[in-house]
Amino acid sequence: MNETELIACHECDLLQWKAPLFERGTARCHRCGAALYRSLPATYDRALAFTLAAGILFVVANCFPIVGLWVKGALVETTLFGAVSSLYADGMWPIAGLVFVTTILMPALNMAAVIYLLLPLHIGGLPQRPEIVLRVLRHVAPWGMIEVLMLAMLVALVKLQHFATVVPGVAIGSFGVVMVLLAAAAVSFNPRDIWARIESVPGVDVASHGVNVATAARAGLFVCHDCGLMSKPPGHVRGGICPRCSAVLHLRKPNSLARTWAFLLAAMVLYIPAVLLPVTVTSTLLSAQSNTILSGVVFLWTSGSWALATIVFIASIVVPMLKILSLAYLAWSTQLRSSLMPRKRTRIYRWVELVGRWSMLDIYVITILVALVQFGSVATIDAGPGSIAFGAVVVLTMFAALSFDPRLIWDAVESESE
Ligand SMILES: [Zn+2]
Ligand SMILES: [Zn+2]
Repeated sequence: MNETELIACHECDLLQWKAPLFERGTARCHRCGAALYRSLPATYDRALAFTLAAGILFVVANCFPIVGLWVKGALVETTLFGAVSSLYADGMWPIAGLVFVTTILMPALNMAAVIYLLLPLHIGGLPQRPEIVLRVLRHVAPWGMIEVLMLAMLVALVKLQHFATVVPGVAIGSFGVVMVLLAAAAVSFNPRDIWARIESVPGVDVASHGVNVATAARAGLFVCHDCGLMSKPPGHVRGGICPRCSAVLHLRKPNSLARTWAFLLAAMVLYIPAVLLPVTVTSTLLSAQSNTILSGVVFLWTSGSWALATIVFIASIVVPMLKILSLAYLAWSTQLRSSLMPRKRTRIYRWVELVGRWSMLDIYVITILVALVQFGSVATIDAGPGSIAFGAVVVLTMFAALSFDPRLIWDAVESESE
């Protein structure tokens, strides 16, 4: 490892020396505690093997039914794609699109990109145009939600038991294994590390910047959002192009606070119909019953599934609300250039990014229920307008979190300490 190599923290922008690590070690930022880098494994063969296995099982999982129901002596089954297309056929295309993108398209792109990058390295060559694939990977990764789908299938199994005898399909097990394999692959492969393999990156010339500057921005160094390379554009150019991956450079995410607020306000407005309007409509011979998210939780609770009721309540009601409130607090305190508890606020941001995706749970449960419970006059479940509002809230809060730049929290701290 290059001794003179500096690294800028991606969450607070603090410049730190890169130090050699023990095997399986993780270097953390000593100001905000973010994980900066891990020790590079000797090869990426393990990550490649896990991802290839996950890819094959993912195809299997999509070919077989996730769950079946015995109705009047006949077995009604659906695959994941079948469930998406029945939502689409019902005119619920926003939800069908959302489920398709987050459970099929994005995970498939993610696996394909990782295999594309690692397979040539395994054979001893180099991937072509890695910068494009790495950029795709960075944008795709947050939207793959196999683990949330997994939990949703378990919730759906419990809910479906109230309509008929449930037969868990092959795909549930396969998706479970895919989830474990992808997690194992992620542990041994960090996309940004691949640059260290492709080219040995020259260290930034520290002497010319002085070592007393605290952050990359102060030193006039631009950190690439895509590949993490620090570079100094010539002269007084504001911005520029990354010399390694040719991404557009910014000191901070452009218009970070304005974009965060815009997404947040839209999410706040839509949170109201998301909670109040029915997400599903259950019709039987005698009656039609509208279910909101909350009444779905109550149903699970009164039918004895307390654990699932609690999980759905937390994922669908508590998490979106906490996420909106936390992001609003972060954006507001940053806008006021508050220097209070920067470390704690950075940790809140990390939590929001990690937990927010789980609110997609109910969307997936609805998708599976709507696909299976179509027994003509006996019982039918349709998606209600609340589900579209709810899906929009989840997507908008994810965009809000992606727009927020945690380094802005620390910029205020620095100007305070002057
Ligand atoms: Zn940091
Ligand atoms: Zn770059």
